[in-house]
Amino acid sequence: MDALCWQGWAMRRRTDRLSVEDFALRPVESVEAGDGQALIAIRAIALDPYLARAMKSWAGEHPGWADGTVHGRVIGEVLHSRSAALAVGDHVLAIARWQAFDVIDAAQAEIVDPAIGNPRLALGVLGRSGITAWVGLHLAAPSAGETLVVSAASGPVGSVVGQLAKRRGLRVVGTAGGPEKCAYVGDALGFDACLDHREPDLAERLAGAAPDGIDILFENVGAPSLDAALPAMNRHGRIQLCGLASHYNDERPIELRHFRQLLYRAVTLRGFITAEHRDLFAPALAELRQGLDEGWLHHRETIVDGLENAPAAYLDMLQGQGIGKRLIRP
Ligand code: NDP
Repeated sequence: MDALCWQGWAMRRRTDRLSVEDFALRPVESVEAGDGQALIAIRAIALDPYLARAMKSWAGEHPGWADGTVHGRVIGEVLHSRSAALAVGDHVLAIARWQAFDVIDAAQAEIVDPAIGNPRLALGVLGRSGITAWVGLHLAAPSAGETLVVSAASGPVGSVVGQLAKRRGLRVVGTAGGPEKCAYVGDALGFDACLDHREPDLAERLAGAAPDGIDILFENVGAPSLDAALPAMNRHGRIQLCGLASHYNDERPIELRHFRQLLYRAVTLRGFITAEHRDLFAPALAELRQGLDEGWLHHRETIVDGLENAPAAYLDMLQGQGIGKRLIRP
């Protein structure tokens, strides 16, 4: 068997700014399942922006981060089970090490409903990304006729936010990096407009694309996008702060030139953490599945093959490479 099968990714050092040199392959010590555990073959690893924080600090939610071992959301196929809850052949959603195989606790894993077809969807549009879009939009209390702007609009969260908002009768403007992404957002996803944030004068272009002002800003990126949108916010507008993708690999203070507009326009800025809204997961998944079944909800995956490519693919994702959910197939 390939030597890479018996290695997993770990961090070499704590750092303020990640580079590929900070990642190292370490031997896997054991892949023996104990009582209540299962051995899985990892079929897909999610390249989630939030992991950057744990990669830099080694302080992630999973206790395994404590020695710098990289953990993330995966889809695995059960190869061997010592738990009555999991059967060989089940596909599970779990937090696992960035490896080709891992041993997981059955109690921490969720069986993926085979009816969804592609089990990877449980990492993206039918997973935390899609649910985050639904929950964040719900909390913003959108009304038909309002204008919503969403950043990282071609990503797995932003793309779903915009499509759900269109269903609810809003005018939807996305921002994304580059003409290919903007064409996808406008043509395939049906946003009213998509602006390339790499081109100059984003604030002026946003004001033009939202002639009645912005009622809801769904912020996935941070200051570069928020600052451009603030001057176009309507009075009593709402900013749903979902993520800070442009700041995850950067510990410098976040500067906002137009911070004052929050006061002058009486804007509400609200951060939210999806995991704190578990009561909304069921209605979110019900609508997302309905959207896929009825064909009005579109999504994309960008898959990079080879565990060895995971660190570079991760950093590329943070820089904006790839459309939709970014995944590694080990
Ligand atoms: P994406 O896959 O869309 O990745 C982040 C994107 O941010 C990049 O691809 C890039 O897209 C964009 N970006 C990065 N730097 C910049 C920059 N300087 N200026 C403008 N855009 C930039 O992310 P997801 O869809 O997975 O997640 C979206 C956000 O939601 C993330 O911030 C994530 O952390 C957050 N999140 C929050 C949760 C919560 O509980 N609050 C739960 C899950 C996710 P582009 O090329 O278009 O610029």
